[in-house]
Amino acid sequence: MSESAANPSWNKLVPRMREFKDLSSALGLLAWDQAVMMPPKGAAARARTQATLEAIVHARLTDPEIGELLEELESATDLDQDQRASVRVLRRDYDKATKVPERLVRALAEAHGRAYQAWTEARPADDFSIFEPHLKRVVDLKREEADALGWEAERYDALLDHFEPGMTAAELDKIFAELVDGLEPLIDAVLGRVTDEPDWLLRPFDAGRQLDFCNWLVEHLGYDMGAGRLDISPHPFTMTVSRGDVRQTTRTEKQGLSGSVYAAIHETGHALYEQGIPEHMGDLPVGAAPSLALHESQSRMWENQVGRSRAFTTFLLPRLKDTFSDELGMLSPDDFYRGVNHVRRSAIRVHADELTYNLHVAVRFEIETALFRGELEASDLPGAWDEAYERRIRIRPPNASDGVLQDMHWSMGGIGYFPTYSLGNIYAAAFFAEAKNDLGDLDEELKRGETSRLLKWLREHIHSQAYRYEAKELAQRVTGGPVTAAPLLDYLREKYGELYEVSV
Ligand code: ZN
Repeated sequence: MSESAANPSWNKLVPRMREFKDLSSALGLLAWDQAVMMPPKGAAARARTQATLEAIVHARLTDPEIGELLEELESATDLDQDQRASVRVLRRDYDKATKVPERLVRALAEAHGRAYQAWTEARPADDFSIFEPHLKRVVDLKREEADALGWEAERYDALLDHFEPGMTAAELDKIFAELVDGLEPLIDAVLGRVTDEPDWLLRPFDAGRQLDFCNWLVEHLGYDMGAGRLDISPHPFTMTVSRGDVRQTTRTEKQGLSGSVYAAIHETGHALYEQGIPEHMGDLPVGAAPSLALHESQSRMWENQVGRSRAFTTFLLPRLKDTFSDELGMLSPDDFYRGVNHVRRSAIRVHADELTYNLHVAVRFEIETALFRGELEASDLPGAWDEAYERRIRIRPPNASDGVLQDMHWSMGGIGYFPTYSLGNIYAAAFFAEAKNDLGDLDEELKRGETSRLLKWLREHIHSQAYRYEAKELAQRVTGGPVTAAPLLDYLREKYGELYEVSV
């Protein structure tokens, strides 16, 4: 496609876009190494190397010639769809990099470093006051950043746009209202019937055998081990170094098995997406996912709609028993299915189950938008947090460290990030419903561990589209309608209604 193009501006832009991809490959590999392999004493030098490379990327990206080439290409009539999409994506990156003044970029980086450091001290000390002045500084600077980037309806939209291009706070207000209204009665009904956590969930499992099992499982799901690898890291993640090198990690825990297995299925969803982006888009800006929520839709679908389904757990348990016969020998398929879908009220988001998780996100979205609408200040956060948890999740966090201090996101300036988790769940349910519409019931094949038809469908409708459209538009093209919480609510009502014998 790009090879035969005659447009001279495009031909001038191609080597520059390749250079961005190469630099981002190097940065990706450095970040992967930092999380997986690097000895602790390498941290200081690594931070400097990364900062140097990032400065080079920034200087290359903000070169005025890029702006001139983009302008010429925006009025060109001889570009194909992928070239036009690449111009649009690069324009976003260029505008973001040029609109925020150097002084503010440096101030933000410094404030994030200090706030993160303060957060690592405040959480174990259970003392919000250590974190508060740093959070206030981050919020003030993010308000400035939003103004520099520009916004139409409200400031928060500019920050949301970093993670979820094209989505607005007003749209999310509507989506979350529908989601929360639908979830609250269901969750109340389910929580009236839950029992203690089954004890097999907390038994010790050998770490080496957990990793062996995960290695087998991710490949079974279609992950190409010739173009990737699976390693261990405390926070599982997927990192694309290049089209032929998409790496993932999982974690192992001394107690329990579902942490490693379900993290591996989740990351495999991310990795299959990356491995499914067409080769010919590899060097171009269009060769990427359109948003975090779209990415998360893939990981959540594999983890939840597939991995935690009754059908797939029927396949999974006997394979797990082959590896862990002493630990799981007595477990029935029904016990296993109930165990991996156990619902409980928790104050901690990362411990939340599939059903209550979205309420944790709704609380954070509500607080973030209030902060950026000027309805709350950093000093109000502990009170606002506890109040929102009581109102939404009917639990009062026992202390600040398991309350307002539990997440690191805000210290790093990740404001507008949380809603993408729930939006990812919403997209996942909508896509899965659509896949079943097209493919028919998948249960029989999932019972045999057979996922290739689903993967083929995802490749065709989602992975191969990469960043041709913004996430909202891609979702609309796939499902034929606007984004709503309805498919997720239908899925949760059906699954948990049957599991806990409630009807809402
Ligand atoms: Zn994820």
